[in-house]
Amino acid sequence: MSEPSVFTRILNGEIPGEFVYKDDLVFAIRDINPIAPTHILIIPREPLVSVNDLDEAKEHIAGRMLVVAAKLAKEMGIDSSGYRLVINTGPDGGQEVMHLHMHLLGGRKMRGLG
Ligand code: 5GP
Repeated sequence: MSEPSVFTRILNGEIPGEFVYKDDLVFAIRDINPIAPTHILIIPREPLVSVNDLDEAKEHIAGRMLVVAAKLAKEMGIDSSGYRLVINTGPDGGQEVMHLHMHLLGGRKMRGLG
């Protein structure tokens, strides 16, 4: 079996993390190295590796990730100013942590698409 991801270890309390949300399917933490005033990671409890692991049976998880992003954007006061949701996938997508996660980025103007 592969090693638990850094996000699973944070969820399990093995390493520290600043939680901003938890439910039965997903949790959200502040990114340790923020690139925007608001930089939150929305992560499924199930250690799916990437978007490539999503199928019809996992739709509820993908849907919950988006709904939680909208909820947190409101809570953080960036729903009107706007924000960016990013899911890096695989080597060309720049994914570094092999546990599916969505970045919620806001509080500054985003430019370009990398
Ligand atoms: P990726 O490039 O895989 O989409 O993004 C991984 C993100 O996880 C990066 O923005 C990185 O700063 C964040 N990250 C990596 N390790 C940790 C950690 O131990 N704690 C937290 N809170 N974020 C982490």
